[in-house]
Parts: sequence; C-alpha cells; structure tokens
Amino acid sequence: MTVAKRIDGKAMAERLAASIAEQTASFQAEHGIQPGLAVVIIGEDPASQVYVRNKKKRAEACGFYSVQHSLPADTAEEDVLALIDELNGDAAIHGILVQLPLPDHLHEQTITQAISPSKDVDGFHFVNIGKLTAGHTEDAFIPCTPAGCMLMIEDELGPDLSGKSAVVIGRSNIVGKPMASLLLQRNATVTVTHSRTHDLPGVVRRADIVVAAVGRPNMVKADWIKPGAVVIDVGINRIETTVDGETRYKLTGDVDFDDVAAVASAVTPVPGGVGPMTIAMLMFNTLRSARLAAGLPGSI
Ligand code: NAP
Repeated sequence: MTVAKRIDGKAMAERLAASIAEQTASFQAEHGIQPGLAVVIIGEDPASQVYVRNKKKRAEACGFYSVQHSLPADTAEEDVLALIDELNGDAAIHGILVQLPLPDHLHEQTITQAISPSKDVDGFHFVNIGKLTAGHTEDAFIPCTPAGCMLMIEDELGPDLSGKSAVVIGRSNIVGKPMASLLLQRNATVTVTHSRTHDLPGVVRRADIVVAAVGRPNMVKADWIKPGAVVIDVGINRIETTVDGETRYKLTGDVDFDDVAAVASAVTPVPGGVGPMTIAMLMFNTLRSARLAAGLPGSI
C-alpha cells in the first residue's frame, strides 16, 4: 500500500513569509514605503482572537506596520463604518481586514463592501470578486484561503491543469466559489458541489483534484477518492475527545486524513495545511497592495 505525501503547509508558508519579508525590505529601501495592515476585530470570539494574534505576529515578522483595532461586541454599525472610512483614507494602511464572524447585529455584506477595493486584502469586495471571475487578476485581490490552496496544488501538479478534473466541495463566497474560478483559470475541468448534490462520493471519485471546504469533520473517506488524486482539506472543525476521562478539544479537517492517505497521492493535514498558507497569502496581498499603490506591478 502506498501512503500519500503529507503536504506541509506550515513549511511552505514559512518559505513564502521569508520571501515576503525579504521583498518588503527591498521595497521599503527602494521606495521608502512600509506596507501597513490594519486588522479590526469586534467582540471576544476566542478562535477569532487567536487568528488575529497570529496575523499580527506574521505581519510584524514580514516587516509590516501593523495595527489592531479591538472593538466591543456591541459596537454600532455606524461606528465600525466610520473606522473603515478612516482606514480607507489612511495612506499608511495598504490592507484592511475585518475578522469574521461578526456579532449578529452587524451586517457582514455592509461591512465588507465598505472596505476600499484597493485595500481589500481579503478579496471579499464585489470589485475583486468580479475581477477574479472575469480573469482580470493583475490588480485584483484573490481571497487568501483559495489562493493558498492554489499554490499547494501548483506545487504538486504544475501551473497548467489542462485535462485534470477538479471537484470543489462547498460553494461559499470565501472559499468554494473563488477556488472554482482559480482552478478554471488554470484550465481544470471544474465541478462545484454542495449540500444539494446527489451522489457526492460518486462525483468526488472522478476528480484528480479535490478541495473540501464544508465544515464537517472527517466527511471525505478513502472510497470517495480516485487513486492518485491530490486532496486539499480546507475544513477546520473543533471536535471533543476524552483523554483519561477529561474532555479535550482537537482540530480536524473535512477529510479523514489517515483513510484518504492510503489512496491519494498527496493530502494536506489539519492543522498544518491550508491554515498557515491562508495567513501567508494575507501577507502576500498586503505587500501587493503597497506595490500597486506605489504604481508598481502587483507581482512579487
Ligand atoms: P460555509 O460558508 O459554511 O459553506 C459550507 C459549504 O459546504 C456550503 O456550500 C454547503 O452547501 C456545503 N455543505 C454543507 N454540508 C454539506 C454536505 N453534507 N455535503 C456537501 N456539501 C455540504 O463554510 P466556509 O466558510 O466555506 O468554510 C468551510 C470550512 O472551511 C469550515 O470548516 C471553515 O472553518 C473552514 N475554513 C478554513 C479556512 C482556513 O484558513 N483553513 C478558511 C476559511 C474557512 P450549501 O451551500 O448547499 O449550504
């Protein structure tokens, strides 16, 4: 029995971040501009606090100017919009990120669409979604998670996916749909599946590339997978386990890693796969934004 390669997203993200740090230093030396990232967090969601801390740490390690705005959970929408407006006009800030999920009284679409498209390093603004869908990506911001997944797929299969069949499980605006656009751009033949798809295992079994972004622990099993497929697990699920009678929590993906690893050629683990690449791509987008603001090409 062959065992699939474990795609090391953590190591890949480290290499990417080191290259961003180097390029930030030379960009700053040449143009006198330090890329700036502002992260806005509203409320006390513990998982969000961890994500925001990690993003700030990574931004500082890349040599960015990094600011965090922590607002109480009951902040009025007009106050959040006023802060975004201020950041939109702040020349020291090139990237603005509002950590999701938001408290219930705030409208996600109103908030994400208030961020200037030129500072929308999460890639959630309709202008950036439109550019990605239309294939005009030279100055667009691509959502960080699918962009990171694409780099990992490219690392396994090369940049041209002609003749490959790809199945994306999940159709969210932040993962599934942009992932499908990126795969299509690379000439894969793409199927997007969701909760209404009939015979999901049968559809997934035809895929050379599987991207699972569902939020259901260990849903994808070995008998869903075509031998030799590349499997990217976006899911982050917190599951309860009992160790010596004590309740503990652990993170697991949407893919049953050990099971699938017996059939696939390469699989991303959770944790240590897509997650670290998502943060690295946020740094990539922020440096890209600073370069574009300086009139330089976005590519680094
Ligand atoms: P989401 O908005 O909840 O979307 C989930 C998608 O899965 C929906 O399209 C839904 O279909 C589909 N789905 C649900 N149950 C299904 C089933 N039984 N069979 C087939 N499809 C099913 O989630 P998301 O924001 O895309 O996130 C997905 C997962 O990725 C979550 O675990 C999230 O925590 C994780 N995530 C990780 C990162 C990272 O950096 N690693 C970033 C973002 C998200 P319908 O549309 O029909 O409801």
